[in-house]
Amino acid sequence: MIAGGHSLLPMMKLRLANPELVVDINDLEHLAYIREQDSEIRIGALTRHYQLLESEPLARHFPIFADAERVIADPVVRNRGTIGGSLAQADAAEDLSAVCSALKASVVIAGGGGERVVSMEDFHVGPYTTAIDDAELLVEIRIPVRPGAGSAHAKVERRAGDWAIVAVAGGLWLDGETIADAGLALSAVGLTTVHATRAEELLRGKRPSEELFAEAGAIASEDCSPSPDGRGPVDYKRHLAGELTKRALRRAAERARAGTTPGGHTWR
Ligand SMILES: Cc1cc2nc3c(=O)[nH]c(=O)nc-3n(C[C@H](O)[C@H](O)[C@H](O)COP(=O)(O)OP(=O)(O)OC[C@H]3O[C@@H](n4cnc5c(N)ncnc54)[C@H](O)[C@@H]3O)c2cc1C
Repeated sequence: MIAGGHSLLPMMKLRLANPELVVDINDLEHLAYIREQDSEIRIGALTRHYQLLESEPLARHFPIFADAERVIADPVVRNRGTIGGSLAQADAAEDLSAVCSALKASVVIAGGGGERVVSMEDFHVGPYTTAIDDAELLVEIRIPVRPGAGSAHAKVERRAGDWAIVAVAGGLWLDGETIADAGLALSAVGLTTVHATRAEELLRGKRPSEELFAEAGAIASEDCSPSPDGRGPVDYKRHLAGELTKRALRRAAERARAGTTPGGHTWR
């Protein structure tokens, strides 16, 4: 299956993917949309990166998307690459999987037997492997809209447009001055997107503070498993994981405090 082709074609050139048949799904134009429905933001799988970057509902509810999209590749990639392809590729360094995990999104997978809804935690099965079966298509991403939301993405890369050395996606839902819920996911520090569930647990029920965010960062850094490579040694990546967790949570809290109306909508 080919959507934007910005992951599949490089994989084919490197002989890491060798499909006998490639089905072009770009004619499924009805799968390119971003809409608010049933207290959710629903995003069609063929929505392109640039559409996520420019979306008003996403900027209003989940500014984390614009944070991430500004630093995903370059306009050439963003004009064609899709959210469905990004999630289905399941590259551990990919940014949108972490964003969707932090926002507690679920995905809709369609096949001959109908549709099923899968949480992001169950979607990532392993490196480059997801819950999508051979005869299935990822059709939609659903993100619940809840009151008191703030979200942010923080990334360090070697140069503009490069994949992350480490990136962190954070979501907070405040009830007054208390963190009612938290979502935290990291890119490029494990075999798949790392769901920082222990750090999320620490954050729930507490008041946002620099000390709390530093503690969450320390836990997230402990719980990830980066590999040494040309992008840096393990200690450096663990340090980044801790520091970027702190920054993403701090920004998410600022946004939740600044942007939440009694109706529960985030305005920036
Ligand atoms: C130079 C460069 C830099 C990049 N930098 C970054 C970066 O910094 N951060 C980042 O996150 N990404 C980055 N990317 C990846 C980019 O975001 C891709 O667009 C994305 O990973 C794949 O989306 P696509 O639509 O191109 O998927 P494709 O390449 O078309 O497909 C990828 C895989 O998903 C499958 N697939 C596609 N759509 C579906 C569907 N609806 N249902 C089921 N399976 C499907 C395909 O069969 C294939 O196996 C970069 C890419 C390039 C070329």
